[in-house]
Amino acid sequence: MDELQALGGPAGFALTYGALVAIVALRYVAIAGLFYWLLWSRETPRVKSRLLTDGRPRPATVRAEIGWSLISALIYALPGVIVIEAWKAGGTLLYTDWRPIDWVWVPVSIFICLFIQDTWFYWTHRLMHHPRLFRIVHLVHHRSRPPSPFAAFSFHPFESLVYAWLLPLLIFIMPIHVAAVLFILTLMTLASVLNHSGQEIIPDRWLKGPIGHHLITAAHHDIHHRDFTKNFALYFRFWDKVMGTDVMEDAYPFLESRREQREGAD
Ligand SMILES: [Zn+2]
Ligand SMILES: [Zn+2]
Repeated sequence: MDELQALGGPAGFALTYGALVAIVALRYVAIAGLFYWLLWSRETPRVKSRLLTDGRPRPATVRAEIGWSLISALIYALPGVIVIEAWKAGGTLLYTDWRPIDWVWVPVSIFICLFIQDTWFYWTHRLMHHPRLFRIVHLVHHRSRPPSPFAAFSFHPFESLVYAWLLPLLIFIMPIHVAAVLFILTLMTLASVLNHSGQEIIPDRWLKGPIGHHLITAAHHDIHHRDFTKNFALYFRFWDKVMGTDVMEDAYPFLESRREQREGAD
């Protein structure tokens, strides 16, 4: 980092940008590749029992998902460079020292960021399903039917531009520890990979408990790839429930007992 700071100017900017593109792309390839290998290269009975779809993702679809996701890395890295340059100049609220209050503030700030991201994602995602915008902005993502883990960032560049700047902007307006930023970036990739994995890896008892009730998993997002009018959110089922676009329990046999419980209680 000292060398980067010393380099400065356009060369330093280009070097930081190149490094960030590489980090974003490698993080995506490593996490998506790991889950693709774990879930789609082995045909064990357990893997088969968690399948959300009849067909396998086609090789041509997977290749396209990887191509679009790598283009997204080029876009996601840009605001990252601006944050790093501004941080070097002392213009952000990003900090690295650990204060006692951080045992509370870091988890709270992570939750605030995730909720703001989720709110932005829900509403812009719904807007992109408007017929006037869908073909231009969002169709690329929905070509994944069924999706593979590589669909995590398979967005048209216009769509990536909608999402890429939000977290960097938050770093300018609220104090965020660098560990919180790294955690959110990793969680964002992991959640997106898992939501598109085509298999539900969360155990049934978790799905039937508070975790499945409040958080989005592969089963929840898979419904969105089949029914474009449902399940728009990213991390939490909150906005889908509030807006009446949430579907989950009735769609999957492995959640049957939960539906029976609920109907029994009615
Ligand atoms: Zn999706
Ligand atoms: Zn969509």
